[in-house]
Amino acid sequence: MLSWFLFMILADLHIHSKYSSQMLYFYDNEIMKLLKNIYPKNIFPEKIIVDIWKKSLLWKIFKISDSLSDPQDILRKAAEQGLKVISVTDHNTLLGSWEAKKYARKFGITVISGMEISTSDGEILGYGLKEKIPAMLSAEEAIKAIHKQGAVAVAAHPYNRRPVRREFRSLRKKKISTLSLDGLEVVNCLTGRISKRFLKLGREKKLALLSNSDSHDLVMIGTIKTGFPDGCKKETDFLEAIRKRLTIPLKGKPKIFKAGLKLFWYSTFARKKIRF
Ligand SMILES: [Zn+2]
Repeated sequence: MLSWFLFMILADLHIHSKYSSQMLYFYDNEIMKLLKNIYPKNIFPEKIIVDIWKKSLLWKIFKISDSLSDPQDILRKAAEQGLKVISVTDHNTLLGSWEAKKYARKFGITVISGMEISTSDGEILGYGLKEKIPAMLSAEEAIKAIHKQGAVAVAAHPYNRRPVRREFRSLRKKKISTLSLDGLEVVNCLTGRISKRFLKLGREKKLALLSNSDSHDLVMIGTIKTGFPDGCKKETDFLEAIRKRLTIPLKGKPKIFKAGLKLFWYSTFARKKIRF
């Protein structure tokens, strides 16, 4: 048991890159609704509407990202922080995760493919995904789709009670009890303290417990970490450790003020031209 603690592998499985954008999803959704009202679906199929919208000037102007971190810089920072495994979990896209994988070998870090999925019940992290899970499914549907891909589902920051918009809320405690989740987060760098309430719930429900930074800036990466058993090497080993509930949520040194300020800045004002 002692060797477990001495040699455990440090992970941060909730990091956002420049591809992450809650607002992008919001605009996509709102504009889609508007266009569908103007042009009934049977005249212009959804795919054509999406293509037109994605090529429009409006979409380009409103490409607001909630992080400016480049995947390569994320890997560099993670290596500096002594992390051996990370997951880039952008909102409703796997793009950041795929790009991060390209640099995994260079920095000697295992990259788990992942994304943060907006469901109608709250946000869920999917790890080990091969394909994107669509946004705004119910939590049950999203978890089913995650498991179908052989991936694992983790409730993102369930202790976070004040979302900016309904789509970005976290799963409620009552709801978590009814779902077939594999794990839940008990702390991130915006709260800083492990939630006793959700630690208890996770233990009662026999879920894997994770401490992640939810980094929206390089400065936050690795400030909160999860411990994995020292035998884990490949992506599948880490997924298996979550399935077997072998993770240890660790206390960290969060930069709450800096994290909060940066997140506010990115989600409100920061705009950057990002090539998708
Ligand atoms: Zn997040």
